[in-house]
Amino acid sequence: MSPALASATRDRLRIAIQKSGRLAEPARALLSACGLSWRESRDKLFCYGESLPVDLLLVRDDDIPGLIADGVCDFGVVGRNELDEQAGERARIGLPPAYRELRALGFGACRLMLAIPESWDWQGPAQLQGLRIATSYPAILANWLQAQGVDASVVELSGSVEIAPKLGTADLICDLVSSGATLAANQLKPVETLLQSEAVLAGPVREFDDSRAGLAAMLLRRMDGVLKVKDSKLLMFRAHRDTVAELSRLLPDADPFTQLAANGDGPLSLQTMCHGAVTWQLLEELERAGAQGLMVLSVERSLA
Ligand code: ATP
Ligand code: ZN
Repeated sequence: MSPALASATRDRLRIAIQKSGRLAEPARALLSACGLSWRESRDKLFCYGESLPVDLLLVRDDDIPGLIADGVCDFGVVGRNELDEQAGERARIGLPPAYRELRALGFGACRLMLAIPESWDWQGPAQLQGLRIATSYPAILANWLQAQGVDASVVELSGSVEIAPKLGTADLICDLVSSGATLAANQLKPVETLLQSEAVLAGPVREFDDSRAGLAAMLLRRMDGVLKVKDSKLLMFRAHRDTVAELSRLLPDADPFTQLAANGDGPLSLQTMCHGAVTWQLLEELERAGAQGLMVLSVERSLA
């Protein structure tokens, strides 16, 4: 990528997301919830933004950090594991940081973990001295080993890391884990977490100095509005004044109640935002404690 193209002023934002895979659908859903809509090109690699000048580039997740570094894309939705790995690789070869994590997005959660054969006892990182560890995350692993003061060899593999111990190409592995089922199927057990990962919004290190700045600020504000209420529900109910203290004790994860209307000596009309699960059991407890006409509403977005 030529420096001229990388720094060219643009009046449209370009966001790279995974074309297909674990992060593809949730990334599009999040951006749609931010009010974006697109017209897809025939090759399905580029989506032209219709509601706002914000276009999508559909790519492999591995390519996203580099697209931001080269200035081809302004933002990307990518796993923290991929972003940190490529940042570590850049640092190792002496390149300056070229992107940063702007927001954690709350989906695609997984952990980068060390896993050892089930038959081993785990006594801690010192045990790794002189062993061979297979991974697709050599930079993160090498940094971690260095921080632990352990000298082990890193065997870089691009896939099927979990079968390396069985094949004899490594003694143990460092790989992404979500449920742990793949490890168990290969007689491995997780012992140390190197990185807690999830999908993140990545962006350039420098601020925009053209009309993308305003667009980017609007997009981030909308995204915050969506992320903030993602697990929230609006709870509406009526209750007599003398039951309010007990009701709010039953709702420790809720905001202070807002009174909607005074109704003489009758029950108060109240609402509150609950941050956490609102189960049937909780509703039944609230009802027993005096709440009437309970209603749970989904919350889509907020500018509060
Ligand atoms: P691509 O074709 O885009 O290169 P991929 O096979 O590298 O796809 P996926 O398997 O779709 O990527 O994973 C994308 C991201 O999902 C990972 O980088 C990671 O952040 C996250 N993720 C969540 N759970 C897991 C898991 N159990 N295994 C692997 N990745 C996971
Ligand atoms: Zn990939």
